[in-house]
Amino acid sequence: MVYGAHRIASVAAYDVIILGAGAAGMMGARVASQRGRRVLLIDHADEPGKKILISGGGRCNFTNTATVADRFISANPHFAKSALSRYSPQDFVDLVEAHHIAWHEKTLGQLFCDGSAKQIVQMLIDECAGVDIALGHPVSAVEHGDGQYRVTYGGRSVSAPALVIATGGPSIPKMGATGFAYDLARQFGLKVVEPRPALVPLTLGADEALFQALSGVAAEVVAACGKTQFREAALFTHRGLSGPAILQVSSYWRHGQPIGINFTPDHPRDWIVTAKRERPRVSLRHLLATALPTRLAEMLAQRLPFGTELAGFTDRELTEIAARLADWPFQPNGTEGFAKAEVTVGGISTDGLSSQTMAARSVPGLYAIGEAVDVTGWLGGYNFQWAWASGYAAGMAV
Ligand SMILES: Cc1cc2nc3c(=O)[nH]c(=O)nc-3n(C[C@H](O)[C@H](O)[C@H](O)COP(=O)(O)OP(=O)(O)OC[C@H]3O[C@@H](n4cnc5c(N)ncnc54)[C@H](O)[C@@H]3O)c2cc1C
Repeated sequence: MVYGAHRIASVAAYDVIILGAGAAGMMGARVASQRGRRVLLIDHADEPGKKILISGGGRCNFTNTATVADRFISANPHFAKSALSRYSPQDFVDLVEAHHIAWHEKTLGQLFCDGSAKQIVQMLIDECAGVDIALGHPVSAVEHGDGQYRVTYGGRSVSAPALVIATGGPSIPKMGATGFAYDLARQFGLKVVEPRPALVPLTLGADEALFQALSGVAAEVVAACGKTQFREAALFTHRGLSGPAILQVSSYWRHGQPIGINFTPDHPRDWIVTAKRERPRVSLRHLLATALPTRLAEMLAQRLPFGTELAGFTDRELTEIAARLADWPFQPNGTEGFAKAEVTVGGISTDGLSSQTMAARSVPGLYAIGEAVDVTGWLGGYNFQWAWASGYAAGMAV
């Protein structure tokens, strides 16, 4: 990776100090510096944008063209609207194209690089040409007094009248993720909405352990948690359930809640009764195998009322079986935790922040952006779009 002319902090006083050189921090730094602000961007990692590099299977799903506020989870569902409306997916696409990065739409409005996520990081580094970037040093202290934030890192002390918290959430600690943003927020009296792992595989307990035998089997399903549902692939794993449909519902799931899976989303309610009329001698297991992967069909058939052929069931029994296949209850006993979570639900409460600027209402000059804030997107490029949009909002305000 080329960092161009990037320098360790060259002066001790800045207009803005941004903590966290991830997606949001780099966007905020770029915008502020291009507005003529002297910006210092600090990260404890030895390179910027590490999560961008591993995102989207190495191709970075950098935005979603269907971005609207209801694709984000937050205690205040309206909070994200302002920032999202002022920095759109098209704005980011324009930036990507200005840097001659080829991209494509994969599915459901998800935009990916044709080449590599490295191109997005390099683009942001190039856009931050006027920013001082200090890497590889943990921040040891942040103090506020006389209108200045004083940040100590790597044995140095720097100050600025504005401080932006952009250190993300605690998902994937081995990538350098921490809960530092929350510590800092609490230090300045901001509330934190309980952080939970999100976009994360769910685990199944002993009662459903037999499904582990299906590890590696995937099927297109509708997965539901309460009133929220997603139609995408689900994947059985050796610990439970994963795949896009499950990751999506995991962001809404709370301990003790069941999730329902519709294994036959394209079949009408009476499809098995109709099949009985047409093929009365076929077994339920064989019929299910026409709609589902064979191993899954066998596993589900074992858990349904026993009968050798469809003709042996009443219409009512078959209607009940179809209904069960369309809402199969699973009782997850947990998630795979922050170690496997793509994002964090919860974070710095939006109650204390301006939705226009991301500034803390009660602490002059303090801002919070990106995943650190209690705004979490669906799978599919929404989380980066929030990082870009909130970074832009703060970058325009500092
Ligand atoms: C495997 C994976 C794949 C993903 N793929 C996608 C995708 O394709 N599309 C999508 O939209 N989203 C994706 N996401 C989510 C996306 O990466 C995050 O939502 C996004 O990176 C959040 O941006 P951020 O700038 O707020 O935080 P981050 O990008 O996490 O940046 C935070 C920065 O702060 C630094 N930091 C943390 N603690 C400290 C500290 N104490 N001191 C100094 N620095 C610190 C970190 O080193 C990091 O550089 C993925 C996440 C994962 C884990």
